[in-house]
Amino acid sequence: MNILFFGPNGSGKGTQGAILKEKYNLPHVESGAIFRENIKGGTELGMQAKSYIDKGELVPDGITIPMILDRLKEDDCKKGWLLDGFPRNKNQAIQLHEALKEANMTLDIVVEIELDREIAKNRIMGRRLCVNNNNHPNNIFIDAIKPNGDKCRVCGGDLQTRSDDQDEEAINKRHGIYYDAETGTLAAAYYFKDIAKNDPSMKYLNLDGKNSVTEVADELVSKLGN
Ligand code: AMP
Repeated sequence: MNILFFGPNGSGKGTQGAILKEKYNLPHVESGAIFRENIKGGTELGMQAKSYIDKGELVPDGITIPMILDRLKEDDCKKGWLLDGFPRNKNQAIQLHEALKEANMTLDIVVEIELDREIAKNRIMGRRLCVNNNNHPNNIFIDAIKPNGDKCRVCGGDLQTRSDDQDEEAINKRHGIYYDAETGTLAAAYYFKDIAKNDPSMKYLNLDGKNSVTEVADELVSKLGN
């Protein structure tokens, strides 16, 4: 099963992605996480990407598109994949669509988590990352996943903030890109939504991001089936 995941930063997209990855045993291909690993490892790619990420800007398509398309061709993706954070603009959507056709890969499900911009912003500023596992959800503004004091609610590990999560200007920039339905990320989502209207092999699912993590996950799993 090949799944594409859309949702503004702060909508719980990463959390839902981690749940799906577990349930369906799919590799979670997350563009932002690949960049962060490269920055941590001091690679050439990481150095090229860092200044854009720190400012909340998109890393140029010339770097991002080949990075993701190459990742989808790796062996672990042969059993299916869950793509998250890419495409982020209409050009990336078109290029992805073309590359999938060329590689004879299907896109089975497109998920869009919908969430109001103001709520999404508060959620980002409350997000805390566990040093032991990026997928342990902690957020000081969401009751269901409040940290245990200043420690991870799952494993008790130390918590950190992502530098680009505490910068309001960078968040506004990132959301400006996401909510832009002409050329930005919503344009990429709607590009696939249009295709799905005429292609019965592709399902387009809308989910309400205001619901709790468990409610969204339950709805998602019920729509995807076992
Ligand atoms: P994320 O973890 O998805 O919030 O991504 C963190 C940052 O990585 C973004 O703010 C961008 O600077 C960069 N990034 C992630 N995915 C993409 C993409 N598809 N195209 C360009 N830049 C990206």
